[in-house]
Amino acid sequence: MLLTITYTGQNTTDLGYLLYKNPYRPQVFELNHGKAYVFYPEVSDERTTAALLLDIDPLDLARGKVGTSGGGLFDYVNDRPYVSSSFMSTAIAKVFGTAMTGRADSRQALSDSALDLQATVTMLPCRGEQERLNSVFEPLGYQVAYETFISDEKFPAWGESRYVRLTISGKVRLRDLLKHLYVLIPVFDRQKHYWVGADEVEKLLRHGEDWLPGHPEKAYITGRYLSRRRSLINMAFERLAAANAADGEILVVESEVGEDKGDQKPNLNTQRLGSVVAALKNCGAKRVIDIGCGEGHLLNLLVKERQFTHIAGVDVSHLALARAGTKLKLERAADSVRERVQLFQGSLTYKDARFAGYDAGFVIEVVEHLDISRLAAFERVLFECAKPAVVVLTTPNKEYNVNYGLSSADDLRHGDHCFEWTRAEFRDWAEKTAAKFGYQIQFSAIGDRDEVHGSPTQMGVFTICV
Ligand code: SAH
Repeated sequence: MLLTITYTGQNTTDLGYLLYKNPYRPQVFELNHGKAYVFYPEVSDERTTAALLLDIDPLDLARGKVGTSGGGLFDYVNDRPYVSSSFMSTAIAKVFGTAMTGRADSRQALSDSALDLQATVTMLPCRGEQERLNSVFEPLGYQVAYETFISDEKFPAWGESRYVRLTISGKVRLRDLLKHLYVLIPVFDRQKHYWVGADEVEKLLRHGEDWLPGHPEKAYITGRYLSRRRSLINMAFERLAAANAADGEILVVESEVGEDKGDQKPNLNTQRLGSVVAALKNCGAKRVIDIGCGEGHLLNLLVKERQFTHIAGVDVSHLALARAGTKLKLERAADSVRERVQLFQGSLTYKDARFAGYDAGFVIEVVEHLDISRLAAFERVLFECAKPAVVVLTTPNKEYNVNYGLSSADDLRHGDHCFEWTRAEFRDWAEKTAAKFGYQIQFSAIGDRDEVHGSPTQMGVFTICV
């Protein structure tokens, strides 16, 4: 909970003008859950250091402030008073807010120049992610150094502490350094002391506008800054993509809706649907059923293909079906279309005679929504009762989630997923299921490939053995 900023060069005491904090007068600021102190441990022409020290009241966090009903943000025993966290970002904005805007009345030229600056953050929570310190700060022009610690010398088995002392140095404008720290400290510290809502998207984009769109780790930074809240991340990505569109780049994001925009690179959803349709056209299917069709993105593509003479869409959700109907414009469609397309409500985990009689069935990004205890029922409904000659099934590849800023094994891509499979787990399940019900299986990967973690989506095409 100590941040120091050191300026080396000539007349470095001017740092005081840029920060609007007099080097010779320590100051205290009241924060919501404690105090912030600003003082200068060293002041000279060649080298001046400003320090921002946080004194967070742990009881406040656990109990709420005296006289208020809010509280219970953290457990009684918490690390908040000792680490640089989202509290540090709040303090930076409060104490150095003017410097962050770049306004420096008496030293504007200096404020607009890149200076030799060094910042040290003590202590930054960063469990098992130290290489990210390099990949996040280096593209911004910093040299990165960090010191690690062992948790307790008396208990070497406890291993390395999750905290580091991070030092970044570079030739940057002061306002940029402050914005980088403001955004990136909470990227490494995962516990935010505020509710992460839409206004955090605004803050991220405002403080990141000059550097985030071009950052190679923008997906990771955005995901972590927004506490992996998918809807907010999508919102931010859309805006970042718009910022990048001028250079012809677009972020490939797992999203629930997937219309292509102009000639931009297709997003993952579009790539996935394209792969499914290609797999289907190859197998010569005529009568097809989309189980868990959602809002009908795939159905919309299928109706355009004359090869498919009967197209059914099933979902457990009435609302999704109603939206699918609207998208397909069924009410206004010609009779020939209405005869080809049928939507009905049903569940993949209950035997249903209406699922039978199709050449091919798809289950696209649905299986992971099922309770794992219902998986065996699903297998029988699909492969034993419906029994189409071909089943195309896609599901997320959990290993790829690190690219969305999700690092723990428990972090799933969407809040309503009950589980997600690694490539080995999916392969294992699919091979066993294929063998059990007399199908052959072929696997493919969909979406941008990462050497280590594979692609975001995995697809299995099951073909019945004759
Ligand atoms: N296949 C679509 C939608 C995927 S979202 C697409 O790729 O765009 C998952 C869908 O599965 C949701 O619409 C949800 O309502 C549906 N679903 C979840 N459990 C289901 C079940 N037991 N039976 C049928 N559909 C189910």
